[in-house]
Amino acid sequence: MRRLSLSIAMLATTAMTAPVQAQDYPIVDAPLELSIHMHWPRAQGYGVGGDTSKIYPVEEAARAATNIHLIDETFGKNTKDSGEAMNLLIASGNMPDIVGGHLIKQPVNEFGPQGAFQPLNDLVDEHAPNIKKFWEDNPGLKEAIAAYDGNYYYIPYLPDGKYGRAYFIRQDWLDALGLEQPDTVDELYEVLTAFRNNDPNGNGMKDEVPFFARNWEEAIRLVTLWDARSSGSDTFHDFYVKDGAVVHPYAEDAYRDALANVAQWYEEGLIDPEVFTRGSSAREYLLSENLGGMTHDWFASTSGYNVALEGKVEGFNFIPFLPPASPSGRRLEEHRRIPIKPDGWAISHTNENPVETIKYMDFWFSEQGSLLANFGIEGEQYEIVDGEPVYKDSVLASGDPVNAQMWAVGSQIQRGYPQDYRYEWQWTRDSARRGIELYDQYDLLVDQFLGVAFTKDEQAIYDRHWPSIRTYMLERQQAWVLGSGDIKADWDDYVETLNDMGLQDVLEVMNAAYKRQYG
Ligand code: CA
Repeated sequence: MRRLSLSIAMLATTAMTAPVQAQDYPIVDAPLELSIHMHWPRAQGYGVGGDTSKIYPVEEAARAATNIHLIDETFGKNTKDSGEAMNLLIASGNMPDIVGGHLIKQPVNEFGPQGAFQPLNDLVDEHAPNIKKFWEDNPGLKEAIAAYDGNYYYIPYLPDGKYGRAYFIRQDWLDALGLEQPDTVDELYEVLTAFRNNDPNGNGMKDEVPFFARNWEEAIRLVTLWDARSSGSDTFHDFYVKDGAVVHPYAEDAYRDALANVAQWYEEGLIDPEVFTRGSSAREYLLSENLGGMTHDWFASTSGYNVALEGKVEGFNFIPFLPPASPSGRRLEEHRRIPIKPDGWAISHTNENPVETIKYMDFWFSEQGSLLANFGIEGEQYEIVDGEPVYKDSVLASGDPVNAQMWAVGSQIQRGYPQDYRYEWQWTRDSARRGIELYDQYDLLVDQFLGVAFTKDEQAIYDRHWPSIRTYMLERQQAWVLGSGDIKADWDDYVETLNDMGLQDVLEVMNAAYKRQYG
């Protein structure tokens, strides 16, 4: 049985907070049925794999604990598009008591102030001590989910854990060439140049691809190595907050200078010439063919290649290394997990038991409910060992991904609950754990832009201008990297065009909404 290391106490950011008190469940004396819409990518309905005749074991346990019974009433079961399902639900005028699932933040913030959903502020303050404590322990999150009227209308799925992606390098290639791990952007340039020129895979051919990425946006993210930014959240190309104001990274002078360097690296063959077209198979192909030298990708899945390619690529050792320092000395890991998802659940206006419902939602933030939401059933999927939930060997060694096993019993699904990083740490490989511990020794992360809720007028301005501005930004960006045009020479015209297209109007509504929401 694997044991948890002490470092998880350092890593877990949110879900480790103890509940206020042991709750006196059941919530009601006699069983109370509440109808639920639960539509998300893994299941279009509240039941095992979306089959609502198969009640989740976790639902059975929650019924036993609370006396609240959720009864499936999901709309749009024939589509995997949760937005389309939500439209059907809103149009029906016949809303279930609870509306949950994927990407509900935008619709509840649009229709909540119009009366379709119940505001939760007072309900939580008065009846949900565990959720209330979560907000107190994690300042800023309640504000981030609020609608433009200042109320909030859903309880989100709250991911735990800090790190997502990391920089990985072929340590065996460094060793073969007698090189140290690059510590600065200039050293990285030297290393990638050596990867290109000096045949680290030893086949006598100049076939190495020094930097590659499954997502071409990761080549753009290299601008962070020269003090620029590529996004403010876990969404590519997002706005970010700079000195208290919302700005866009692709309209900043730092980006002009940094992207010029990225274009130079691309021209020199340090970045995969096919980075914009190779797509999601890039990592699998370039690693298994012993061609790729460095990437920026998820800790857990990328670490898996050391096991997958053992004995297939001789000496293969692809390990996380620290973000190289920029010319100003900044070391930034721009990607991190977002603390709030737009997924979760809300109480509709037709619900005649809002107090019982919010108490039920609070149950999932209690110690008992959080264990159920994260780890499955005690004795079936996990045991408590020295006070910690520990997966049984039958789960860890089953061959099926642990997350898929959890979905099958009704844990880790898109209800509103605090995720517990102990869930993932138990099946994170040792090389990824060492990388996470390395990253944890430095202050590499920055706060994320968690989005804003627009008024109707603001939304109209944003919708009118932003999609075409974004398209133009990305077209120009790709052209510059590919060597069509020179970003420094073109910069003034580019900025003028952005302003002609309405960038300043977009930033104005962004900042008005930002100030209203976050104060
Ligand atoms: Ca070679």
